[in-house]
Amino acid sequence: MPDTLTARHLATVDAFFGGTFDPVHYGHLKPVEALAQQVGLNTVTLLPNNVPPHRPQPEATAQQRLAMVKLAIAGNPLFRVDDRELQRETPSYTIETLETLRKERGAKASLAFIIGQDSLLNLYKWHRWESLLSVCHLLVCARPGYRRQLDTPQLQAWFEEHAVTCAGRLSEKAAGFIYMADTPLVNVSATEIRKRRHAGQDCDHLLPVAVQNYIDSQGLYRE
Ligand code: ATP
Repeated sequence: MPDTLTARHLATVDAFFGGTFDPVHYGHLKPVEALAQQVGLNTVTLLPNNVPPHRPQPEATAQQRLAMVKLAIAGNPLFRVDDRELQRETPSYTIETLETLRKERGAKASLAFIIGQDSLLNLYKWHRWESLLSVCHLLVCARPGYRRQLDTPQLQAWFEEHAVTCAGRLSEKAAGFIYMADTPLVNVSATEIRKRRHAGQDCDHLLPVAVQNYIDSQGLYRE
């Protein structure tokens, strides 16, 4: 249960959650909903990625990924979507998007970026990863199958320097802390959903029905 002090403070934190969302699924939605409830976030804005050309491209187009996110969050007052990364011609790095958000919100606004535990483990691969905490806090959701030890000693030391165990501390400053949330483990990945669809298997209980219907109507993730 959230303590009321924490909940009152973190209502002012502007939280963002980036992803490819190819497709969006319960492994994205459920842990973030639990996190929001635990620490008292009022809103979480989903930021679908523009995937750089040198990486494996999503199977769904940017517009289809955006449409699926909108269907997944329809009627849920916690979530919003911001499609700024999809509107750019060039792929945008998370740090650049966060710097833009920081400029828009001002130096005093508390900003948080939410990631899954797998992303934390190899954060050192992200463009200018060491600058992330100068613009936001990091909120980390648990993900099944990912050990706690980080991939490099440098990343581990950075984590230990900035980690806080009490979410209420995030209200002490506008950026700079890492909080590992005790969120439910949801064993779903977009890769698994795409594989199941390719194999003609159902994906019931892995993602919202509205998103499943959209996938069917668009003929997505078929051979
Ligand atoms: P793929 O299987 O295609 O790599 P994915 O399911 O990991 O995709 P992404 O859109 O790449 O989904 O992930 C966006 C964010 O959501 C990342 O920070 C990732 O760590 C987090 N995330 C994805 N699935 C889960 C899950 N089951 N539990 C917790 N976090 C998750």
